Amino acid sequence: MTRITFACATALLLLTVAMLQPSPVQTAAQSQRPAGTVHNGKAFRFNKVRDGVYHAVGTGALAVVGNSSVIVNDTDVIVVDDHVSPAAAWVLLDEIKSLTDKPVRTVINTHFHFDHAHGNQIFEKNVDIIGHEFTRDMLLKGNPLQMPLYKNYLEGLPRQIDDLRKRVAAEADAGRKANLQMQLEAAENNRASQAELRPTPPNVTLRTQMTLYRGDREIQVRFLGRAHTAGDVVVYLPKEKAVITGDFLTAALSNMSDAFVNEWPTTLDELKKLDFEVVLPGHGEAFTDKAKIDYFQAYLRDVWTQVSRFKQQGVSAEDAAKQADLTKHKDHFPGIQGPGVPLIAVTRIYELLDRGVAR
Ligand SMILES: [Zn+2]
Repeated sequence: MTRITFACATALLLLTVAMLQPSPVQTAAQSQRPAGTVHNGKAFRFNKVRDGVYHAVGTGALAVVGNSSVIVNDTDVIVVDDHVSPAAAWVLLDEIKSLTDKPVRTVINTHFHFDHAHGNQIFEKNVDIIGHEFTRDMLLKGNPLQMPLYKNYLEGLPRQIDDLRKRVAAEADAGRKANLQMQLEAAENNRASQAELRPTPPNVTLRTQMTLYRGDREIQVRFLGRAHTAGDVVVYLPKEKAVITGDFLTAALSNMSDAFVNEWPTTLDELKKLDFEVVLPGHGEAFTDKAKIDYFQAYLRDVWTQVSRFKQQGVSAEDAAKQADLTKHKDHFPGIQGPGVPLIAVTRIYELLDRGVAR
């Protein structure tokens, strides 16, 4: 190779390398594509709730599980919750580009659960990840990985994949087969992404309240009391009269695996004191019917009373889970199909009663 040819080849190589580098506006996090991001079509619907405020709900093309919310400000973007995996968070960032080219500079975790905070690791160090002190504590210790809630989820994935494979093979209808195939690919990608998981705690914490100001928008992050976990925060936009609630208040029933079931209704009373018109929940569609709070409080009080009574009577948690009857709430919560409540809820209530509730 002559010296000139060599120089040209080197220049070409450098140019190629330069072209492969992310453009300056891209963050390094976005360039490091995690495993399991491949999907067909859009992974998210961005439902516009207010100007610059979107509720991001998964389409099913990718496993995302919880919802996130996206707040587009004058010069930056705030994301509330980042889904079930690094892959889901990465795709969220990618699809946010269809809304705005402003950078995501702040993430808020409503709580530490896997389906809301397992995307944290993809963000650059200069991105503020805000959460309650308790949320940081849990993610720092890696506790979420030991929780039955997550372990059951993770252990269920191979079974889900096997089952979907069989159903894809057996399905004759082309439309249904394609749909099952999509579910199978989403589950396989999710498993690949979970393998790369590193629980990443918030790097900014609060105990009761903090407020962010972006242009003329005010964003309040508030801890209203223990409820779904010991560290749920809501994100309240007073001017927009909108509140982002995570699993503290969803469109249906939230799980109670580590909830303070007896304190939850009182904490919901604190939520009622805020002046809002629309709720962006961690699961289900955004809603405006504030009576849902009353229905949920009534359900929680009923579960607590019934299960406490069973415990007093010496009934096992397993039997209490079968016998508790919440069917009178089914008009408001169609998920209730008959007597019985999830064992994970009863186990939690028994645990709270055993330790004298308050701790
Ligand atoms: Zn949760």
